[in-house]
Amino acid sequence: MSGLQKTFPVVLGRRYAGVAGQKWPVSILPQPGELLSSWLHRLAYANGIPPRHFGTVMGLHAVNWSAKLDRTLPTPILDLLEKHTDVPRVDIAALSLVSDPLAQLRLPLRPIPSMELKEASQPFWLQFCPMCLAEDESPQYRREWTLATRVTCLRHGCRLRDRCPNCGSGLAPFRQNRLVGQRLCSFCYSDLARPTAKSNPPVLRIERLVADLLRLHSAGHRAPNGRSILDPLAQCRFPSNGLPPRPLQRLPLRERYRLFQRLADGDLPRTYAGSRASSRYWALIATASKSHVALHDKLATVVAGAANQGVVEKVPTIDLIDILKAADRVFDRKGL
Ligand SMILES: [Zn+2]
Ligand SMILES: [Zn+2]
Repeated sequence: MSGLQKTFPVVLGRRYAGVAGQKWPVSILPQPGELLSSWLHRLAYANGIPPRHFGTVMGLHAVNWSAKLDRTLPTPILDLLEKHTDVPRVDIAALSLVSDPLAQLRLPLRPIPSMELKEASQPFWLQFCPMCLAEDESPQYRREWTLATRVTCLRHGCRLRDRCPNCGSGLAPFRQNRLVGQRLCSFCYSDLARPTAKSNPPVLRIERLVADLLRLHSAGHRAPNGRSILDPLAQCRFPSNGLPPRPLQRLPLRERYRLFQRLADGDLPRTYAGSRASSRYWALIATASKSHVALHDKLATVVAGAANQGVVEKVPTIDLIDILKAADRVFDRKGL
């Protein structure tokens, strides 16, 4: 009986709120280059809430709540995220596309998204590299995948996708109502990471040159007279499958890839109605891309040369500043 008389002290534990404060139970860090909506979805999964319902937790009721936050991040939402996570406010804001220097070239987000959007002639708001998704420990979407100038993964050299390889729907990770991660389609639950073919090298060269020019633009470099290179890139209208000519950011991924291929082949007319100067600028880029060495390749060459007794191999290349100057001359001639 003595055992039964043994008593165990019962001590009241600290209330969860007292331990965790106002933070959500699990806080995860955004990855370099990650898009705000992608981080929010991963945050939702980590806390056991499917993305479809996580918007409601934050008082947001639009179906595409997270994609809208990518483009417009209201102060109360930023306050809320700062309060409930361990991520600094400035870092959260930097994940969004607000104050984006490349805004003109981002793929458009429809005001009212179709639930099962499959139109072949329309661009989708988000693209992805299946190999990147497959390699991610926690699949995530990158900011660069919202650029209309991107049709290839510059890391893997493979073509991007902009829709589910099984059902053909555009991406809608915000509507996922199961705890399955971002690698599965929100409509048919198929694996999105089905591999794609490699991009043709000439297409890749054009993309790398444009990416370097955009990097210069984001860093504050402008053409000699201060003009933005984004204007000719974004304003040029291209013929599109029997439809009226449209700017690059209004073309679906497949047509943008074909366009780059035709540019590389020199198979496009040099001018289009209403955008003669900008179409000439695109032609200039296509020509220059043949002898362009990407900035990171140049850097690697310099670093390798420095490591090898200071000898740096001299490679004849196109200077990006020369392209900016050439574009300026084109505009001046056309009085734009
Ligand atoms: Zn990739
Ligand atoms: Zn699907």
